[in-house]
Amino acid sequence: MKKHNFNAGPSILPREVIEQTAQAVLDFNGSGLSVLEISHRAKDFQPVVDEAVALFKELLNIPEGYSVLFLGGGASLEFCMIPFNFLEKKAAYLNTGVWAKKAMKEAKGFGEVVEVASSAEATYTYIPKDYTVPADVDYFHITTNNTIYGTELKEDLDVNVPMIADMSSDIFSRPIDVSKYICIYGGAQKNLAPAGVTFVIVKNEALGKVSRYIPTMLNYQTHIDGGSMFNTPPVLPIYTALQTLRWIKAQGGVKEMERRAIEKADMLYAEIDRNKMFVGTAAKEDRSRMNICFVMAPEYKDLEAEFMKFATEKGMVGIKGHRSVGGFRASCYNAMPKESVQALIDCMKEFEAMH
Ligand SMILES: *Cc1c(COP(=O)(O)O)cnc(C)c1O
Repeated sequence: MKKHNFNAGPSILPREVIEQTAQAVLDFNGSGLSVLEISHRAKDFQPVVDEAVALFKELLNIPEGYSVLFLGGGASLEFCMIPFNFLEKKAAYLNTGVWAKKAMKEAKGFGEVVEVASSAEATYTYIPKDYTVPADVDYFHITTNNTIYGTELKEDLDVNVPMIADMSSDIFSRPIDVSKYICIYGGAQKNLAPAGVTFVIVKNEALGKVSRYIPTMLNYQTHIDGGSMFNTPPVLPIYTALQTLRWIKAQGGVKEMERRAIEKADMLYAEIDRNKMFVGTAAKEDRSRMNICFVMAPEYKDLEAEFMKFATEKGMVGIKGHRSVGGFRASCYNAMPKESVQALIDCMKEFEAMH
């Protein structure tokens, strides 16, 4: 039976990207060697990193003066690298969920942290809007897509201080104005590659402004100078990321990814709103296109386990909601075909008809 992969992360990748990766594991570029057993400095692998960086810049329209890095440690290590490299006195954070909170926690070890607003009191079901960012902060940190709660900032904010964004789960799902940010980062395992590589887009001239000592490996400048090769980078995930970037370009770029994301999200939210058995959990204006969260309507609460079983039998995978939200979460990343979203919708309709 066909499986419809709604996993939140690691998550679905385009089938051809997986096949190209499998091929390179067996024989990298006809070299007779696996991509797993060559030097990252080999003349064959350098072009992989170079092309991945070039495609990042092209697809996201990154202005001059920014570097693209591929590092280890996940988005979680960036939570501490950000303040290490950018926080001299004071930083502002928007608390929109567990990941935002974790990022904020690390920053507190480096300077004053202002939580400009939080939606914790409502289990992060919306994104706060009425707040002011102090003018004297070194940066304002946001999480553009809140993977667990299904809320998303779908446009770049207008604030008068440099922004830093965790875009782990919505990178390449819409065009972004990179010039508003001094740093954009994320774990690649949601929308780009397998787990193991972290992407970082950093504005070169924003670096070198803090007075503390930064350990070599945690200093972005080290990795800019080393071209992401200061130490051994995660070779295989970078190889896969390159295949995904080529795939995005061939499909029509981020504008097309956005069009598809809107189409898929609109389809599924329309069914959630129509179907009497389900309700969406996120505030309508903040609904994520990437992670679509819903629960059983109160009068059908006791059918939750039954719907899960029914959907699983129909090939749905990974639709269980995060434990802090409950219910269901259908992650619809770039690689998710419209047909799979339709299959889930059919499932919901059929379940409704049965009751
Ligand atoms: C998954 C996720 C993280 C954590 O990423 P790791 O690479 O596992 O550290 C951080 N932020 C967001 C928004 C995420 O979705």
